[in-house]
Amino acid sequence: MQLSEQNKYTIQGIEPAELVEKFGSPLYVYDGGTIRRKVNELKHAFSGVNMKIKYACKANTNLAVLRLMREIGVELDVVSPGEFEMGKLAGYAGNQITFTPSGVPFAEVQAAVEAGAIVNVDSIPLLEWFGQTYGNTKPCLIRIKPNVAAGGNIKIMTAHADSKFGISVLLIDQILAVVKKYDLKIIGLHQHTGSDIKDAEPFLQVADILFATAKHFPDLEIIDLGGGFKVSYQPGDAVTDMELLGNKISERFKNFCDEYGRELQLWFEPGKFLVSESGYLLTTSTVVKEDPARNFVHIDSGLNHLIRPMMYGSYHHILNTSNPAGEEKLYNVVGYICETDTFATDRKLPEVSQGDILAFLNAGAYGFTMSSNYNARFRPAEVLVDHEEAKLVRRRETLEDLLRTQM
Ligand SMILES: *Cc1c(COP(=O)(O)O)cnc(C)c1O
Repeated sequence: MQLSEQNKYTIQGIEPAELVEKFGSPLYVYDGGTIRRKVNELKHAFSGVNMKIKYACKANTNLAVLRLMREIGVELDVVSPGEFEMGKLAGYAGNQITFTPSGVPFAEVQAAVEAGAIVNVDSIPLLEWFGQTYGNTKPCLIRIKPNVAAGGNIKIMTAHADSKFGISVLLIDQILAVVKKYDLKIIGLHQHTGSDIKDAEPFLQVADILFATAKHFPDLEIIDLGGGFKVSYQPGDAVTDMELLGNKISERFKNFCDEYGRELQLWFEPGKFLVSESGYLLTTSTVVKEDPARNFVHIDSGLNHLIRPMMYGSYHHILNTSNPAGEEKLYNVVGYICETDTFATDRKLPEVSQGDILAFLNAGAYGFTMSSNYNARFRPAEVLVDHEEAKLVRRRETLEDLLRTQM
């Protein structure tokens, strides 16, 4: 969102008030231009190697976003049959989709493999099953748990020793025994460290572990370093220097390929990095309460629409788009759910009046996809702004949607 010379916030020239008037409030809005820019940034940073982007679509599965990704040459990483089907609906071929399950029923893996997906095998029992079922007729990748803690928030770390994800690198002998027993065709090694990782060091550290593990596997085509690049959450935030990170990882990767004796593909599975900054949750202030302890701003939304602050303590920058130049005051910004649902505590905002439109930034990843119908509330509509045009890409829910599955 940009502040114009007339002191108005706009998304590709369109004011939030216009969007709310047309599509209602609360409203998820995605800026397609930002998604294109982020994809280009990543491609540019890794232009020296054979890099493929597999968008981790659990961050945002709106079909319009998936179609946009497909148009700009980004493939998919999915974690469930539902996400796989949405990928297909968005026009992806089965073999452009990687399935990265986490202890799922083997039938889900079977369905994905038979539809052409490539699987990241995440446990010894699944590897055994894969061998018994397919022998060497289907390739797969192995998800390695490198036992590295990185990222700073334990709730979103996925590669430390206590994490449930992947097969511990310490079990390499067991992995190799199963691979040998079934003559498995292992075409790649995968790892995903977690989220909000700013520096190149953790990526290099886990890359080195995968490179060392790679010497046991002669048929590799892919090294998949997962996602987790940090994004900017507020003005002046330290973010990943993508060019620097790209240079460092590319250099190390090229050296590895030289030693391995073949040029491999380097895969990444970013979610947040590609879509977080593209998204806004536009909400309307319903009540401003000047309490002796604190000023409260209630909005027409809650943890049912954006659970990240309550779930992980995530920071979302908030703009009062109706009064950008107002005098700043401290507020607790809270939702309408009957449960404590605080979005921000003692947040400095230009004075808020009832009816003002507050925009939450970084709402493009893990926003709508983590929303619920708690308190029998409807999920918001979603709008994609692309080429300076705002398009409704999901309608707002109604009572009928809540009743659809009830008998
Ligand atoms: C969630 C997830 C990602 C994406 O993480 P971000 O922090 O959004 O980049 C990548 N790979 C796997 C396997 C995941 O589960």
